Amino acid sequence: RKLEPILQRQECVEEFFKNKVLRKNLKTELKEIGDLERLISRICTARANPRELIAVKTSLKKIPIIKQLLDPVKSDTLHAINNRLLDLEKTIEEIEISITDDPPLNISDGGVIRSGYSPELDELRDLSKNAKNWIANLQKSEREKTGISSLKVSYNKVFGYYIDVSNTHKNKVPENYIRKQTLVNSERYITPELKEYEDKILNAEENIANLEIQIFNEIRNRVSAKENARLIAMLDCYLSFAECAEQYNYVKPGMNESQKLEIRKGRHPVVERILPPGEKFTPNDCIADNEEDQIIILTGPNMAGKSVYLRQIGLIVLLAQIGSFIPAESANLGIVDKIYTRVGASDNISAGESTFLVEMQEAANILNNASSKSLILLDEIGRGTSTFDGISIAWAITEYIHENPDVSAKTLFATHYHELNEMAEIFPRIKNYKVEVREYEDKVIFLHKVSPGSADHSYGIQVGQMAGLPLFVTSRAKEILNNLESKELTPYEIKKAKIAKFKQNDELQINMFEIKDDKLRKEISDIELDHLTPIEALNKLNEIKRKLKEEK
Ligand code: ADP
Repeated sequence: RKLEPILQRQECVEEFFKNKVLRKNLKTELKEIGDLERLISRICTARANPRELIAVKTSLKKIPIIKQLLDPVKSDTLHAINNRLLDLEKTIEEIEISITDDPPLNISDGGVIRSGYSPELDELRDLSKNAKNWIANLQKSEREKTGISSLKVSYNKVFGYYIDVSNTHKNKVPENYIRKQTLVNSERYITPELKEYEDKILNAEENIANLEIQIFNEIRNRVSAKENARLIAMLDCYLSFAECAEQYNYVKPGMNESQKLEIRKGRHPVVERILPPGEKFTPNDCIADNEEDQIIILTGPNMAGKSVYLRQIGLIVLLAQIGSFIPAESANLGIVDKIYTRVGASDNISAGESTFLVEMQEAANILNNASSKSLILLDEIGRGTSTFDGISIAWAITEYIHENPDVSAKTLFATHYHELNEMAEIFPRIKNYKVEVREYEDKVIFLHKVSPGSADHSYGIQVGQMAGLPLFVTSRAKEILNNLESKELTPYEIKKAKIAKFKQNDELQINMFEIKDDKLRKEISDIELDHLTPIEALNKLNEIKRKLKEEK
């Protein structure tokens, strides 16, 4: 929401956008970098595993190269980022000398710390590997020291390691031997040294595991690359913006502190890319500002492109405020404090909330929180209730946004209620726009073009027809619509509507109903059906028809 940082981001994106070679090289290096922010946050919470520490090392190794690439850039903001990027040689080296190249996922699996890094760990590993050798060596050296040739070092489960001396040599036993057990022919001893080794051997595995964990934790605690992670993420983001800008033909929007919203030939960044082959996206302008065109009432039939238009404006404003380029020909945008949307129907029936209730909750949230610097996008309001209810609510909401200076946000309101178009005549900052369609025979052709004015039809029935509703349903719907539109407002009161319809379609039948042609009436009523053969009846009918034709 602050102009300065947005402009700084734009500066970075622009430099990457213009400098293709730099972008390509940076991309290559960034590809080798893991998700540093995530890795570092795992390190900070002491959850990173050995492989993640290696990933940090691999990533950090790329930083000197990135620094070099950024050295010749023009943008001051990029230079500032580069200066803050730290070449963490020490951290890299520490991980390199301490952690094996391809460590297991879990530290408890062992084999994580390189040999040669900790003498204590090396000794423990030696111990566990060479336990038997050591015992054999002890036996040899003790025999030499004491001169007892039959001295044996053995092991049992109850006493652990012990030195066995037969009774004949009892008097040669040195003082430091501690008697543990007396047997018939021999005595068993331990020495403090043997006890110590016994502990070491027996607990070696456990000690190795513990020590590896301890060393790993110490190293992990020393790795601190938070700032680097943030800076790399920023570069990655700006680079992606620049890539998109080039790939999808985006431009840099002008940003300012005004309350204007001016987009020329804006496009929907997603819809424009997923249209079926052969269909082209129709760009649209949007000019709104709180002074003159605060509220835009957008009408148009179903499928005309109202939702797409509303969403593209929301997305363009959002993209612009995160510093990205935008899908448009040009734009001048005042910074908004929030984008409020009420789009799409969602319900939460399991929680006892109907679609309509959810819709009203969303609307309430907007009206209670929006400010004059916000952007409000309303895609239909009041649809989930009766028409009059809906129109009344929609009208009152629009009036509130217009009249209440605290919430007088720029608002785009897509609606089927053409009645709301009348508001433009009463409220000065409400403007009517429509999405254009063309009627061709019984069909509608969607032009997706937004222009000033109001749509006078919803074309719902035509869209239903396109969707494959049975012919009976669509023709009956047309009939009911005619009734309603002729203000009868009851689908079963046919008289007035029918007359109106016949007036349009068939003058002849109207004549018959309107009792103008007394001569013809008399002739028909004079026919004595009882005396007519079927052939004569047919001829009579033919005659009447001919007369009618002549009259016409
Ligand atoms: P509405 O909200 O008026 O019922 P949508 O906005 O959902 O209509 O648009 C219906 C379809 O029309 C979209 O899915 C899209 O395929 C197409 N469309 C919408 N706007 C455009 C446009 N500007 N250019 C091309 N096609 C569009």
